[in-house]
Amino acid sequence: MASVSQQSPVQGNGGTGTTTIGVENPATGELITTIPVLGANEIAELAARARAAQPGWEAMGFEGRGRIMRRAQKWMLDNADRVIDVVVSESGKTHEDAQLADLGYTVSALGFWAKEAEKYLADERVPSWNNPVAAGKKLIIRYAPVGVAGIIGPWNYPIANSFGDCIPALMAGNSVILKPSEVTPLSSLLMQEMMVECGLPPDVFQIATGDGTTGAALIRHVDVIMFTGSSRTGRSVMKEAADALIPCYLELGGKDPMIVCRDADIERAANAASFYSMNNGGQVCISVERVYVEEPVYDAFVQKVTDNIKQLRQGVPAGVGSVDIGAVTFPPQMDIIDSHVRDAVDKGAKVLTGGHPGTGSGRFYEPTVLVDVDHSMTCMKDETFGPTIPIMKIKDPEEGVRLANDSEYGLQASVWTKDVRRGEELARQIQAGVVCVNDAQVNYTALNLPMGGWKESGLGTRHGANGIRKYAKIQSLLVTRRALKREPFMFPYRAKRTMMLRRMFNVLYGRGKRD
Ligand code: NDP
Repeated sequence: MASVSQQSPVQGNGGTGTTTIGVENPATGELITTIPVLGANEIAELAARARAAQPGWEAMGFEGRGRIMRRAQKWMLDNADRVIDVVVSESGKTHEDAQLADLGYTVSALGFWAKEAEKYLADERVPSWNNPVAAGKKLIIRYAPVGVAGIIGPWNYPIANSFGDCIPALMAGNSVILKPSEVTPLSSLLMQEMMVECGLPPDVFQIATGDGTTGAALIRHVDVIMFTGSSRTGRSVMKEAADALIPCYLELGGKDPMIVCRDADIERAANAASFYSMNNGGQVCISVERVYVEEPVYDAFVQKVTDNIKQLRQGVPAGVGSVDIGAVTFPPQMDIIDSHVRDAVDKGAKVLTGGHPGTGSGRFYEPTVLVDVDHSMTCMKDETFGPTIPIMKIKDPEEGVRLANDSEYGLQASVWTKDVRRGEELARQIQAGVVCVNDAQVNYTALNLPMGGWKESGLGTRHGANGIRKYAKIQSLLVTRRALKREPFMFPYRAKRTMMLRRMFNVLYGRGKRD
């Protein structure tokens, strides 16, 4: 990214002066293109168009909307090389990372929501027999689209974490405005091109390119906001949403712990630790960010992880199979990663491999293994979001759980043991929205399993029923068919009827012993 240049002011951008942002390839430092920063007035215009387009889109029904999602699914696969190239060019990640998540997740999600949306949003009948006042009435819960959904996405997965959230919002019958990260807007623009080619009606899905001010302006014009990014910005988004009085859903940072028990399959655990800490260059909200290993297997585990990580090839992605680890996408991230490593070393940690920024014109940080770490170090407490893996020795899994919970974050965690019953018991003690036993990250592909953070890792969930119901307004319907001319509780109040109602309450609710 992200050279922001001031251009000649243009009318209609909210009086902020039109700016453009240069989009750079983080692996080479080359400027790819520039994109406009939309101002408040332009966002208002997008929102007005989105609002006008929404009823027609809703009227197409689940089948009509699902047809377009299925077309998009095929479009992505037919244009896979182009999709991957665009993601790689602006993020600096490897082709494999782009294929697995940005392409693979999204084609799966297009099919999933096309098929499941109707089931999750179908009218629900609820019983009325258990309430004497409502008895005999028809009670229905209906999920209506909110209208216009705003999605603010981050840079680490320019399609999966941005357009991925638009799919359920669209399938719920909403228009959507997506604000991509300023460093990775091109993937979102490609998704818009795809949706238009696949027959999406005009203005149902629009992209608001820009920076944080664009995101803040968007919140004032939509009916719900879904945000993925840092906990710090998440707080600002929630304040903006409070002012706009709209619901807000946040998927924020994480510091995911991995607990390796002495009876774990050490080879699998070490391979998984190497992969889930380093894939996508460690720039994953559900990355393995810290590892706790029981003493008897600690040395073997550390040796295996270090051997794996020493073999990783890092560099400019030049096609499939060319490198294992790409660039650091977001410029300020380099300093965060390096400061975590330096702080650990200053406090007594040992670097077994890596430990420095890379050289050359691109932005790279060496894959780094840290040991002799403890919770006085930022690498064990703050989100690093880079290719590092700090490993700490523990005496038993209980200590691992205590340390896992010693965090402001609670996004995901994993426990590794052959005793899966014990693994599940430990998992239930960990304060995180998702805990895997003998696995990590793959829960994200289970689209019927909710995913969301506890503590400072977020609010609400994506995936599963709530992953689409959050883009709907609940409307409750009560329908009375046959009824008395006058209900017994209506005017005029009479002592006889009042006491009859009292007796009814006693019969219904007053039986049984008192404690
Ligand atoms: P941010 O949270 O700042 O940015 C995420 C998105 O929010 C971007 O589109 C950004 O726009 C937008 N934004 C920024 N300010 C506002 C605002 N006031 N109102 C509305 N939208 C806004 O993340 P960063 O890019 O700064 O990354 C910082 C840290 O966040 C990382 O170090 C990492 O720890 C964490 N992170 C977590 C992710 C996750 O998946 N949970 C993903 C990415 C980062 P713009 O980019 O144009 O400024």
